[in-house]
Amino acid sequence: MNSARINRLYDRLNKEGIEAFLFTSPENLRYVCGFTGGEGAVFITPKQKLVLTDSRYVLQAEREAEGFRVLESNRRWEDVASAIKDSGVKRVGFESYHLTHESYVELRRRSKVALIPAPMSIKEIRAIKEKEEISCMRKAARIAERGFTQLIPQITVKHREKELALTLEYHIRKAGADRTPFEIIVVSGKRGAHPHGTPSGKEIKKGEFVTIDFGAAYQGYCADETCTLIVGSPTLQQKRVYDAVKEAHDQAIAAVAPGVKFTEIDAIARTVLERAGLGKYFRHGTGHGVGLAVHEAPSISPRGEGEAEAGMVFTIEPGVYVPGWGGVRIEDMVEVTRHGCELITGIPKELQII
Ligand code: ZN
Ligand code: ZN
Repeated sequence: MNSARINRLYDRLNKEGIEAFLFTSPENLRYVCGFTGGEGAVFITPKQKLVLTDSRYVLQAEREAEGFRVLESNRRWEDVASAIKDSGVKRVGFESYHLTHESYVELRRRSKVALIPAPMSIKEIRAIKEKEEISCMRKAARIAERGFTQLIPQITVKHREKELALTLEYHIRKAGADRTPFEIIVVSGKRGAHPHGTPSGKEIKKGEFVTIDFGAAYQGYCADETCTLIVGSPTLQQKRVYDAVKEAHDQAIAAVAPGVKFTEIDAIARTVLERAGLGKYFRHGTGHGVGLAVHEAPSISPRGEGEAEAGMVFTIEPGVYVPGWGGVRIEDMVEVTRHGCELITGIPKELQII
């Protein structure tokens, strides 16, 4: 059990006037007690630490959740409600972004305690990574990179987006990933205008950009990276767009340091694209936190609250998406250090001509 994490949670309990926490999301079950089964609930009060899971996962939970009492629970909300009642607490923080409304209503009815939405507590704690978490993400990035490097010779005309996505997934898993943390994106030519397009049966053609957004998970921790390559030589317009996105990416990364507001980092990338006349084609945030989930706090966007702190890990991924023409996105993950930041992902982002 990671006692430093538990202590941080107890600190938050006091600060927020909550007596206990109930965790239900797979990432937090793993984060709080090490249980990787993904199904169940973790309930902690200053006096007890419980994992409730069904018969399929009891042995696994007993092995993984050191320092926690494991209860077999085949009627989850009924059993969680009993555990809450037995503990005598009256105010329980829960993951309002994860627990379904139906489960909430049942839990409330059975436990008769105040369920307090406490989404920020754990998000804020998880946003600052421990050394071991960062090494897992670096390892995940190396695995994804190895897979991607093996894919490059296969990115040629006539290959279909779907085939490339499948081949890349194979290489990444073969290189040692637990899994790919999201569906790999491969979009080419005009389809590049879809920031999160699904790989299709379209063949890659000469002169097209190919945007590949990929990652790997290692011991639960994710890597997330995007490369945009070109098949054949770029036109002047393609070069201009690529260079602008690359400049936005580079300048935003250069600005990352403790104390810099997320809105400021976002504005740096946005301003570069606006000056290049491409501002209206950049319609998503500049980046997001990465950890056990591929998208987590913080949010590097015009609405992102807060500032960078040492130990945070997030992406910088500006993009330009022109309907009917295509798109470019360049994404890297950075670790905020004491004086600036370091890249976690490592593929060079100069335009690769295939
Ligand atoms: Zn990505
Ligand atoms: Zn991303």
